Amino acid sequence: NRQKVLVSACLLGDKVRYDGTSRPVSHSVLDQWLEDGRVVKECPETLGGLLVPRPAAEIEPGFDGHDIYHEEGKVITKQGHNVSQYFVRGARRVVERIQAENIRIAVMKANSPSCGNEQIYSGEFNRMTRTGQGVTAAALTEAGVRVFNEHQLEEAHQYLEQLESEETTPA
Ligand code: SF4
Repeated sequence: NRQKVLVSACLLGDKVRYDGTSRPVSHSVLDQWLEDGRVVKECPETLGGLLVPRPAAEIEPGFDGHDIYHEEGKVITKQGHNVSQYFVRGARRVVERIQAENIRIAVMKANSPSCGNEQIYSGEFNRMTRTGQGVTAAALTEAGVRVFNEHQLEEAHQYLEQLESEETTPA
């Protein structure tokens, strides 16, 4: 059974970012996955009910996506509006989808308060990042999915091959 890969919609050219842009990635690994029909595309923030465009939002300092997913701390817009519920709803829906489709690997947009796998924006709207995962990346990690970012496509490809070789190895 061919492994599917969850990919952030904005990396595939969908104009779903807060400012109405995308961040399309051009890479042979991604092209191959698309050709193989492995790619499952989601944008957690729009899935959670946020609109395009929308105000920029960041996870407040001292918290990360794991906290938000467990309803501690807040995701706030630059204007100070609490938008946590949308982020949590989007993350839950993405987790439902990966469970339904048995997805174990994801490539998500770096630094996003939803999708960031290792780093997120600081929470002070100063363009700085800090260590931590976005809300959906955290929820996926907790659900056993390995989350890579768009700069780690080679590693993601290797991990995919490892998963598939494990599956085909006779017991
Ligand atoms: Fe949507 Fe994630 Fe891209 Fe933000 S980073 S636009 S939540 S897919």
